[in-house]
Amino acid sequence: MSGQVLRLVLATANPGKAAELTAVLETAEGLADVELVPRPPGLAEPDEDADSLEGNARIKAGAVVAATGEAAVADDTGLEVEALGGAPGLRTARYAGDHATFDDNMAKLLDALAGVADRRARWRTVALVAFPDGREMVAEGVCRGTIAEARRGTAGFGYDPVFVPDDGDGRTLAELTREEKNALSHRGQAFRALAARLAAPRA
Ligand code: IMP
Repeated sequence: MSGQVLRLVLATANPGKAAELTAVLETAEGLADVELVPRPPGLAEPDEDADSLEGNARIKAGAVVAATGEAAVADDTGLEVEALGGAPGLRTARYAGDHATFDDNMAKLLDALAGVADRRARWRTVALVAFPDGREMVAEGVCRGTIAEARRGTAGFGYDPVFVPDDGDGRTLAELTREEKNALSHRGQAFRALAARLAAPRA
C-alpha cells in the first residue's frame, strides 16, 4: 500500500483493544500511511454467533463496512484453557453469563481452576480487514501461558490480571506496559501479521 493512505474504521468499541491495535498498526513496518478511524458512535453491535473466531471477526468487520462503506478492521479473541477442554473459547466474553463483567469472568475462571495443577492456557486472536469490494485479509496470533492463582496488576483489560504469558518473566499481562504486552500478546502477533499482509505489494 506504499504511497497511499489506507483508511480503516475500527470495529471495536473496547477502548483497551482499540489502544492496543492502534499502537501495533501505527508502528508496523511498511505501514506508515495507515489511518485508523474510531467506530462511529451509535452503531448497533452485531450478534457474534459464528462458530469460529474468524467467523465472528468477519461479522464484526462486515457490519462496519455495511454501515460506513469504508474498509474496517476487527478482531475476535478467545481464551482456551487446557484443563477445561478448551473452554471458555468462543464464550470468553460471556463465560460467567450474558452480561458478565471482566471481574465476574475472572472469578468464575479462578473458581473453575481452584486446586487444579495444570493451569496451561492460550489466547488466540484472529485479525481481519474487510474491504467494501468484498476482499478481506486475515491473520492469527497465539499467546501461550498459564492462569495465575489470583489476580495481579491493573493494566490492560479483560482477563489480563490472571494470565501469565510463557514468554514473559512471570508477571501477568496486567503487570506489563502496553508495549511489553503488545510485543508478546496474541493481538500484537495477529496485527503485526495482518500489517505485513497489508504492506505487501498487491498485483
Ligand atoms: P472479543 O474478541 O472482544 O470477543 O473478546 C472475548 C473476550 O476476551 C472478552 O471478554 C475480552 O475482554 C477478552 N479479551 C480479549 N482480548 C484480551 C486480552 O488481550 N487480554 C485479556 N482479555 C482479553
